[in-house]
Amino acid sequence: MSGLTVNRLLSDKYDVKVFERESVPGGLIRCKNVENSLFHICGGHVFNTNRADVMSFFEQVFNLERDFIKTERNSTVFFENGEVTNPERHSMFVHRTSWVDGVPYPIENHVYMLKKELQDAFIADLLKMQRSYHRRQPQNFEEFLRWNFGTTLYNLYFKPYNEKIWHRNLKKISIDWLQGKLPMPSCGQMLYNNFNHIKESDVVHDQFWYEREGGSQYLADKLAENADIQYNTDISLIERTKNGWKINDENFDLVVFCGNIKDIVNVLKIKDVEPFANDIEHLESHGTTSVFCEIDRNPYSWIYLPSDKYLAHRIICTGNFSAQNNRMKRLSATVEFTDYISQDDILANLSRMPLNPHYITHEYTKYTYPIQSSNTRAMISALKDTLAKKNFFMTGRFADWEYYNMDAAMGAAKDMVERFDI
Ligand SMILES: Cc1cc2nc3c(=O)[nH]c(=O)nc-3n(C[C@H](O)[C@H](O)[C@H](O)COP(=O)(O)OP(=O)(O)OC[C@H]3O[C@@H](n4cnc5c(N)ncnc54)[C@H](O)[C@@H]3O)c2cc1C
Repeated sequence: MSGLTVNRLLSDKYDVKVFERESVPGGLIRCKNVENSLFHICGGHVFNTNRADVMSFFEQVFNLERDFIKTERNSTVFFENGEVTNPERHSMFVHRTSWVDGVPYPIENHVYMLKKELQDAFIADLLKMQRSYHRRQPQNFEEFLRWNFGTTLYNLYFKPYNEKIWHRNLKKISIDWLQGKLPMPSCGQMLYNNFNHIKESDVVHDQFWYEREGGSQYLADKLAENADIQYNTDISLIERTKNGWKINDENFDLVVFCGNIKDIVNVLKIKDVEPFANDIEHLESHGTTSVFCEIDRNPYSWIYLPSDKYLAHRIICTGNFSAQNNRMKRLSATVEFTDYISQDDILANLSRMPLNPHYITHEYTKYTYPIQSSNTRAMISALKDTLAKKNFFMTGRFADWEYYNMDAAMGAAKDMVERFDI
């Protein structure tokens, strides 16, 4: 998405050539057809943005009315231990021998659906949070979640869910990446939303656009139309020349690197990179195993899974996004696990999960979630400023080591082009 966006932004002004390691465009947003249904090989990508300039760029490339379906997100958190007792149950599924209850997302707006003890504890949390309103800013992810949502919701959902994703103590996660990613409702807003049964807060994916055909692969294919892309070309060396750069025996005035910053140290053998090599080496990240399954029909966009009975943290019901995605009797979906998990372990986990998932295939992607530490942004920004002086630019989820959604990746590409007046 980043490289293809840069290509679009620069190709009016320059002759642009894109090098791509894979045989198709798309990177993380690639999809495959499996058993006549669409498999998002990583996650289940949907699009929306709060940035007017990104939306306008998107609308220049894509015909929203014709080629996309606008959907209200209907996501839910599954609980399996009887936490939900309110008679207005949102959903109930018999999962083998036990009940699974869905509480709509975001959970902080639906505390009225939890059992009385949890509601009482949440109210006590709100009163306590209100009294300590003026304390210092949270310093890590654990403090951010506990202080914004209270200890009850933290223990019930935010902690177990996020520990499944991040595989670490949440105290060890910096919060710089959170800006604009998660809602930060006040105590008053949470009370108001619960009193009035207000479902959504104003976050980016509460509504989304989804492609009528081809899923997010359509985005990549369309953006790649008319681009000069050399596929199956893994760039392992970018050489400095007198007036610019040499890649694959071709000379260029300017380079935009949208790959992984960890590769920069080996790919770009110039002195400017050396002082950053140690910090780059220590950058941490997670991978994702995306398992394509057939599951029981349900009305959800995606389902969050805080349960400790299995390791998967989310089911994305991609079969619900477009009728074209699903040619199965039940529903196509991707089940997400953090990091690598073997096929035997996948099967064992699926057997303990709700909605009776039937395994079809899976893909492991090594780099999916960058983890920032407190100096990551400053370090990468300094490297980018240094290299920009030599007409070498960087943008992308793993070039910037940022938790970008597609729209943020497009926005960052746009900002880079404008900032450096390329
Ligand atoms: C599980 C998951 C779910 C997500 N869901 C959503 C969602 O629903 N909505 C949303 O907006 N965003 C979502 N995202 C985020 C989205 O995937 C990213 O923002 C976006 O794909 C980043 O694009 P990119 O171009 O920066 O990086 P990438 O997609 O990683 O692209 C980098 C490209 O560079 C190529 N490359 C790298 N190194 C080299 C090299 N040396 N030589 C040649 N080619 C090279 C790669 O093959 C790849 O094609 C999700 C991400 C994950 C991990």
